[in-house]
Amino acid sequence: MKACYPGTFDPVTKGHLDIIERAAGLYDEVIVLIMRNPRKKCTFTEDERKALIEACLAGQPYADKVRVDIGSGLTVEYVKKIGAKTIIRGIRAVSDYEYELQQATANQILAPEIETLFMIAKPMYSFLSSSVVKEIALNGGEIAPYIPTEIIEQVKEKLSRYE
Ligand code: ADP
Repeated sequence: MKACYPGTFDPVTKGHLDIIERAAGLYDEVIVLIMRNPRKKCTFTEDERKALIEACLAGQPYADKVRVDIGSGLTVEYVKKIGAKTIIRGIRAVSDYEYELQQATANQILAPEIETLFMIAKPMYSFLSSSVVKEIALNGGEIAPYIPTEIIEQVKEKLSRYE
């Protein structure tokens, strides 16, 4: 069975990667879907975000079960197109719940055959978001605890030039 993990991943963090690994433990194939959202101002381009995720996956024992793609439009349409039945989302705190509930309910109405599966963040990552990583990097702080070693330099480099 396939599952789709959609998100912005701007950039991917250890929290996202933990969800990907756990999803790969449950499903035969996990498609990490970078959703194009014209209303969201992202730091990294879609291709850069894809390359960052792929760099983190390389060498992981579950890597052969994971594929990264870029999509636009309705997530449920993409999920149907690839023949998956599950959307994976992560929940860090109560603050995530309201938004996630709204999205999942909208998707349930659009496509009742597709389920949203929520995975609770590991406590060590429950405060971690792409925005936190960017804020720390922009202010010259250490981002090593939050993102894998493989992509630290790329993320730092991009943020040092970002205004
Ligand atoms: P979106 O803009 O779709 O929320 P994000 O890249 O911010 O995209 O997050 C994608 C998904 O991953 C969301 O379900 C979010 O709650 C979850 N997520 C983000 N950070 C973490 C984390 N540290 N631990 C677990 N889940 C997370």
